Amino acid sequence: MGDSPLTSHIIKHYTDGKSIGYIASVTGISEEEVLMRLRIFKSDSVQKLGNYYNDDIKKVIAKRDKNDVSRSQIAQELCMSVTFISNACKKFGDNLKKKAKFQNQYTEIDSEHDLKTCPDCDSKRVNEISGYINDHNTIGIYCLSCNGEYFRFMNEDKLYRLNYEFDEE
Ligand SMILES: [Zn+2]
Repeated sequence: MGDSPLTSHIIKHYTDGKSIGYIASVTGISEEEVLMRLRIFKSDSVQKLGNYYNDDIKKVIAKRDKNDVSRSQIAQELCMSVTFISNACKKFGDNLKKKAKFQNQYTEIDSEHDLKTCPDCDSKRVNEISGYINDHNTIGIYCLSCNGEYFRFMNEDKLYRLNYEFDEE
């Protein structure tokens, strides 16, 4: 299914930065099916060995980012963490344009939180995510209710909130 002509068509519009609603109207399917096909494409990008996404999905993400779709929106559309989106953009996108604000990408939050719920909105709709920030592995959650992302570095107890506003221009 991931390689079907319809999916290729959707991916083309998606990388061009078109909205999900627009893609649904030009392909004649529902927005839900557009999102479903995008997520299947994403799942198909997981390499057979190990749990890593291949470059196909990262390039799609980086191009959509370049076409002025916010990273938090892309994260929501693909059900992925903002960290993953940012790393894909860093690898395949224009990594110079956002360099200036790189220092402030996360802030420490004062909490002994176990991350079973969202520290901000208390929602239980959280996905566990692992990431990679400034050359260190991180472990944390992505909140499906408020789109917040929280993490700690593997080797320390402090809890941080990811500030992805810095990705917007
Ligand atoms: Zn939340």
